[in-house]
Amino acid sequence: MQTLQQLDFRNKTVFLRTEFNVVLDEYNRVVDDSRIRASLPTISYLRNAGARLVVCAHLGRPWGKRDPSKSLQHLIEPLSALIGDNVIFATDCIGNERMLKQHSLHPGEVLLLENVRYYNEENVNDEKFALSLAEGIDVYINDAFGNSHRSHASMVGVPKHVIEKGIGLLLQHEVETINSFLSGTVHPSLAIVGGAKVAGADGKIHAIRNLISRMDSIAIVGKIAYYFLEATGAGTGATLSADKRQIDAPDSNMSTAIQECAGVLSDAQKLGKIILLPLDSIVLNLETNEMKVIDHLVESVPRNSVAMDIGPRTIDAIKSAAKNAKAIVWNGPAGFFEDDRFKAGTLEVASAIAQSGAKTLVGGGETVTALQNVDLSASNIHVCTGGGAMLSMLMGRPLPAITALLDKTDAKSV
Ligand code: ADP
Ligand code: MG
Repeated sequence: MQTLQQLDFRNKTVFLRTEFNVVLDEYNRVVDDSRIRASLPTISYLRNAGARLVVCAHLGRPWGKRDPSKSLQHLIEPLSALIGDNVIFATDCIGNERMLKQHSLHPGEVLLLENVRYYNEENVNDEKFALSLAEGIDVYINDAFGNSHRSHASMVGVPKHVIEKGIGLLLQHEVETINSFLSGTVHPSLAIVGGAKVAGADGKIHAIRNLISRMDSIAIVGKIAYYFLEATGAGTGATLSADKRQIDAPDSNMSTAIQECAGVLSDAQKLGKIILLPLDSIVLNLETNEMKVIDHLVESVPRNSVAMDIGPRTIDAIKSAAKNAKAIVWNGPAGFFEDDRFKAGTLEVASAIAQSGAKTLVGGGETVTALQNVDLSASNIHVCTGGGAMLSMLMGRPLPAITALLDKTDAKSV
């Protein structure tokens, strides 16, 4: 796979796929521009190298509809301010207007295309759409790490029709960083996996299964931990059945999920890996709204109660595991942190990691949200820019965006 340094961009028209999926407020102002900032090194590199830059990105999930609140027009000003130059905008990512503006680009100039997800053809990787996106393009560069697990047209279709292609600095850095954690070269290593969704195609069980062979120990927290506790015979009350959000195992049956968890625990045992499950939990009585700490070694979660967060003994166990670790990978909150009553576990995990000084990789949509008010500046933590893509890599799955950069271009289609 070619890196930016291996390619020549002088006078070339370059299609740059970036991840600009920011949140806008009610006035269409960018709430947090860190995703745009993350792609600035690649944008600067390409501009300085003399590229005529065509930037393609998505915003939100309009899936085929021209939703004005998801327009990339809202990013013209912030992007122009960040690069210190005027960004040109095309109101459609394909077609005449774009082609006219693309043809009149000078080296170093940036043309931002309207939201690529205004076309449903993007997410079904429509061949004709990919060809239109690739029109007049000399070099394809992908820097959209956060979208790299999706086989969308701008991610995997366009590079098929461009001979010169390569990986942007952000995508390269994220992939190399995650691979370094998965390489199993630093010991002792600890994975902390939490969150809500255990089973199904994107369930965390696949990440845990892969991490078992790569890390020395794994702490399983969050709602997913209670599937594993059920698998050990510990009673978890209404924890697995009470969640009305249905985010944990929508496409799979609960008892199958528990059986799969039992299989993972026995595999870990065979490999001599340490699995840390919650020793205690904060449980909420659904009838009385009372909260109490349950010690899983001596009692079950009552029938009418749900486990919402890890308890103090579990936090201590994770603290000492983190203290000993030289490398830590963390994905998934330890509890229902959106409710202040159940955020302590997640915040304690964060501070344990920050204090441990271990080289750490953290990622996940909700995990990063939970860390928003935690000061991680003095720590050795890499916060990954793409939760879903990171999870895919933790599962050991190849990223389609990377595979597409390795594929030979079908010369006939160019
Ligand atoms: P991420 O996006 O970081 O990968 P997930 O999407 O897997 O994480 O899960 C995050 C969700 O898991 C959060 O909304 C959190 O409230 C929920 N969660 C974690 N533990 C529990 C629990 N014990 N009960 C209910 N929800 C939980
Ligand atoms: Mg999530």
